[in-house]
Amino acid sequence: MPDEVLPLRELELLDEDARRQLRDRRAFWWRTGASTRSKTCDADGTPLLWALTEEPHRAVWMPLDATPVPDGSVGIYRDGGARIAQVNPPSDLPGGRWQPHFATCTDPDRYRRPRT
Ligand SMILES: [Zn+2]
Repeated sequence: MPDEVLPLRELELLDEDARRQLRDRRAFWWRTGASTRSKTCDADGTPLLWALTEEPHRAVWMPLDATPVPDGSVGIYRDGGARIAQVNPPSDLPGGRWQPHFATCTDPDRYRRPRT
């Protein structure tokens, strides 16, 4: 029914609202969770860089090797102050590239599944 279709402007506002809510959730997750992540891997001592995955409905933390590598599969952007990991990012995503730590860990099973 054409008259049930929202006008474009209202769709854009809904979209903006959803984006703002996601940004607020990420800001909260980051504020409450980032400082409790270990700075190094318990198994091998590798310095870690933590990021949230792009999962929008719950906080899923991904450990990355802190040192960026040219062929890393993860790019990072900021949203709500949080560091967000984008797996296989488009080439125009600025910044470095990182490797998930489970790819290099001596005890990868501990990181295989992203944890909340
Ligand atoms: Zn490790």
